Amino acid sequence: MPTTQLREISAASRLEHVRYAIRDLACVADEVTRQGHKILPLNIGDPITFDFETPAHLIEAVHQAMHEGKNGYAPSSGVKEALDAIRGEAARKGITSIQDVFVTSGVSETVDICLAALLNPGDNLLTPCPDYPLYSAVLAKLGINLNTYYLNEDDGWQPDLDDLKKKITPRTRGIVLINPNNPTGSVCTRQMLEQIAELARQHNLVIFSDEIYDKLIMDDDPHVATAAVGPDVPVITFGGLSKNYLAPGWRIGWGIASGDASVIKPYLEGVNKLLRARLCANHPEQYAIRPALEGPQDHLPEVKRKLRSRRDLTMKWCTETPRVRCVAPRGAFYAYPSIDIPEGDDVFVAELIRQKHVMVVHGSGFGQRPLTQHFRIVFLPDEKTLTRAYNAIGDFLRERYH
Ligand code: PLP
Repeated sequence: MPTTQLREISAASRLEHVRYAIRDLACVADEVTRQGHKILPLNIGDPITFDFETPAHLIEAVHQAMHEGKNGYAPSSGVKEALDAIRGEAARKGITSIQDVFVTSGVSETVDICLAALLNPGDNLLTPCPDYPLYSAVLAKLGINLNTYYLNEDDGWQPDLDDLKKKITPRTRGIVLINPNNPTGSVCTRQMLEQIAELARQHNLVIFSDEIYDKLIMDDDPHVATAAVGPDVPVITFGGLSKNYLAPGWRIGWGIASGDASVIKPYLEGVNKLLRARLCANHPEQYAIRPALEGPQDHLPEVKRKLRSRRDLTMKWCTETPRVRCVAPRGAFYAYPSIDIPEGDDVFVAELIRQKHVMVVHGSGFGQRPLTQHFRIVFLPDEKTLTRAYNAIGDFLRERYH
């Protein structure tokens, strides 16, 4: 017989600030599924859930690597052929001052390591509002208070430069840029990137430029890499196979560190310490990096064709639907319409799932300016599914708000 009674084990209090609205909605969806309904999922940014497939030559490369015995631990920074291919890709993006390259288990791990290697207690990092929730979750885990800057809806969701400047404090160490952006689908202008690079110079900041969607620009306007406009500025560019190469389950991402060598060196030593501490990224999957970056890119025109068609359908619906307004997305596969409703967007989203079985994510889960309401649509599903979902949301808006 045990002599003492076990008590409840509590989670760390710093986790109170971790929000991951996308997955949190799963509870409401479970409730609806248990009642026998099928959910129309406009909430998850995984192309493989819809009519997109990982290019066959990449699957073949991983298969072959496994058969060739690439199943042990890899070097902590990544295998040489993958690192060489990423350097080549960086050069094609116009990044000239590369100081280091490393492979991680998805960009999620790049973010985790790069932020942990930079920030001391009391420091802060500027993150966009709205943001992709990974950043605020990692900061919460590190016990770092949020310092957000607004994206400006009236300016096509470009960063609000005045707000950004106002938010820089003596303890600000860096700026996160997501370009193309999740959740808004906006793409930063070269002029904006130049201004942000100049701010980083003036305040000695690291820029984390999340460019995981850089090949998914729908109208073929150019993507400008932040590191290319500020070759002297410390920039870590994030990229990976999850989106551009349709392989999110492989968990392959990378970081490209660039800038003045003497400025960034001590920080990169910290990054490498953490890379060694977690041993390595997935090994056989790293062998898909070279064929991805250097091999046929045949999947991209078709992916972009589908995204353009689904974006246009989404915009048509937004334009024709009362209470809804949307800045047209130019990259990635997200739209972030504003809605004019007399209740919280979290209530709107939960009731939409319950009543119409359509799942989108509420703007308050990403952060937004006070007194504004939004929801994020993932427009990856095919046109027929999107049309059904938009009809249902239109009905819901009419029935609930008259
Ligand atoms: N960064 C952004 C902006 C994303 O939207 C996502 C995933 O949706 C990630 C990073 C995570 O990428 P990965 O699958 O490489 O971890």
